[in-house]
Amino acid sequence: MQLPEDTYMHKGQRRKLLDDLRSMGIQSEAVLDAMNRVPRHFFLDSAFSQFAYSNKAFPIAAGQTISQPHTVAKQTELLDARPGDNILEIGTGSGYQCAVLCALGLKVHSIERQKALFDSSGVLLKAMGWKPFLYYGDGYKGKPVFAPFDGIIITCGAPDIPQALLGQLKVGGRMVIPVGDGETQRMWTIERISELEFTKKDHGCAAFVPMLEARARD
Ligand code: SAH
Repeated sequence: MQLPEDTYMHKGQRRKLLDDLRSMGIQSEAVLDAMNRVPRHFFLDSAFSQFAYSNKAFPIAAGQTISQPHTVAKQTELLDARPGDNILEIGTGSGYQCAVLCALGLKVHSIERQKALFDSSGVLLKAMGWKPFLYYGDGYKGKPVFAPFDGIIITCGAPDIPQALLGQLKVGGRMVIPVGDGETQRMWTIERISELEFTKKDHGCAAFVPMLEARARD
């Protein structure tokens, strides 16, 4: 696959976006640096690429959306992972969030239920040189063979907290999940503080496409 160019214009727009994210309250320089290393316009339809560095969500294939840069920054900051951590992402989508996690030096497993997105994000991430483990399947089941995870990040709106995923979190690990079954959700972080105990914290309103069960039909 031939990657688009990452021009001085794109790089300049990206630096401006990082300043916008700082002024919106993102504090982690590690997260901002990772976002600076991932050209977001690679993940968008070329019709939208000139707007890639505005804080907007855009449609991708299969009726899904690439999250707003602020949402990606916020969820990644809340994940609070360390390089080398074993991370599970639900909803690979365009692959953008996945690339940002890879750029942070995390070991990333990502599940997508839409075959078209699983295929296209895999080709793009490989061409960019990122090496996540990608799966076509149902994120509600998680990936028990690679559990426990230091962190789990869910990038679609979950009607409830999926129990199977809680069970795959390491003690001391953290889940970042938008919970709610309408068009908006609340962003929660959930920490596993012992085998049987979890604490949770509300981080405000969010708007994601829904987390749906089972794989979509091809
Ligand atoms: N992280 C993505 C966001 C994509 S939108 C990005 O950076 O582009 C959310 C994605 O979650 C969609 O692609 C949708 O198909 C996927 N999804 C919804 N329910 C799912 C499930 N049960 N398992 C895996 N993926 C799911």
